[in-house]
Amino acid sequence: MPYSEDRSSWFAGQGLWSHVPESDWRDWAWQLKNRITTVEQLERYMTLTPEEKAGCLFANHKLALAITPYFFNLIDRDDPHCPIRRQVIPRGEEMVVSAEEMLDSLGEDSHSPVPGLVHRYPDRVLFLVTDRCASYCRYCTRSRLVSNAQDYNFHPEYEQALRYIEAHPEVRDVLLSGGDPLLLSDKKLDHLLGRLRAIKHVEFIRIGSRIPVFLPQRITPELCEIFKKHGPIWMSIHVNHPREATQELKDACERLSYAGVPLGNQSVLLRGVNDDAEVMQALVHRLLRMRVRPYYLYQMDLITGGSHFMADVRKGIEIIQALRGHTTGYAVPQYVIDAPGGGGKVPINPDYLEKLTADEVVFRNFEGKQFRYPLKRTPVKENVGKVLPAEIHL
Ligand SMILES: *Cc1c(COP(=O)(O)O)cnc(C)c1O
Ligand code: SF4
Repeated sequence: MPYSEDRSSWFAGQGLWSHVPESDWRDWAWQLKNRITTVEQLERYMTLTPEEKAGCLFANHKLALAITPYFFNLIDRDDPHCPIRRQVIPRGEEMVVSAEEMLDSLGEDSHSPVPGLVHRYPDRVLFLVTDRCASYCRYCTRSRLVSNAQDYNFHPEYEQALRYIEAHPEVRDVLLSGGDPLLLSDKKLDHLLGRLRAIKHVEFIRIGSRIPVFLPQRITPELCEIFKKHGPIWMSIHVNHPREATQELKDACERLSYAGVPLGNQSVLLRGVNDDAEVMQALVHRLLRMRVRPYYLYQMDLITGGSHFMADVRKGIEIIQALRGHTTGYAVPQYVIDAPGGGGKVPINPDYLEKLTADEVVFRNFEGKQFRYPLKRTPVKENVGKVLPAEIHL
């Protein structure tokens, strides 16, 4: 799957919705209201493959179908293998459940002291503030929870979660996620961030959101003011393919950066989307140009009906190997597997280390050349017994 920069300029534009006034197009409420949510709507805009049609008919039992017009325009409707298309248009393969897959593959429910809060690591919590997203990713780890297609009983209780954080001084880092926190109203976000800021031991607040990618219109100057007011707020966005890095996303990232929000990116390694070194390199370079630092590259979780997305771990390692040393260090994300059952994120790295003894460490560089670093120091003969010059006092 070779990737060429000219096939995807930064421009996205209104495409199929060019008849809509620009003011509507730029309005996030309009984008949400006009999302594609039914197979009938979808078929009005594109020809579905039988595989996709079957997936759409099944979708509302598993994870709802929803695509913002803005994001839909990024799909190449003539290409059934389009990497954008694969991420948001359901496929019949979602019905195929393997024995290894789990509804709650990260054991989040069992690490949840109060509804909507996951406390897995010693010093930080994951605060799931909503079950809604602007569009739904077919490989979503929390498909049990988001979109309400599975009647999952999700009622985030802010008050209870906030009280838990207040009562646990070891929690110095709060990660707001969901669903997508940026679907909350400005007023609600302002309130939530204010409450968290008021907790003395909470030093670090961050938001995980795919809104800048699905709905860049949501990153309004008013929202940025809220981040400024409660800052520093860090944010992880979620871009998987360079074609998602549009001018609109770039502008949204710029607004966030100017409001003092440091930006990272989390990608999921997905078969047929970005499990390719050339594609990933184009992606991380574009991210840097948008002021976004690649943070994590995730091996996909063992979600039910996700096997058609599962990429080879060897491929993931190969991608990191193709980046490290070959390009800007800032561009290289950490490849991780979130341990099934709830063990947390574990780094999976190419093996540069060949040998480590008390005497030396032997390793290979990015070109595969071997190097040694001695761990013992042998005094040089002429220096033995030499005294310091008189003018140096220790
Ligand atoms: C990913 C995650 C975090 C944050 O982990 P970092 O490595 O600090 O980004 C915190 N809690 C849970 C449950 C998570 O899954
Ligand atoms: S934006 Fe995140 S939570 Fe929402 S569907 Fe996509 S992966 Fe799931």
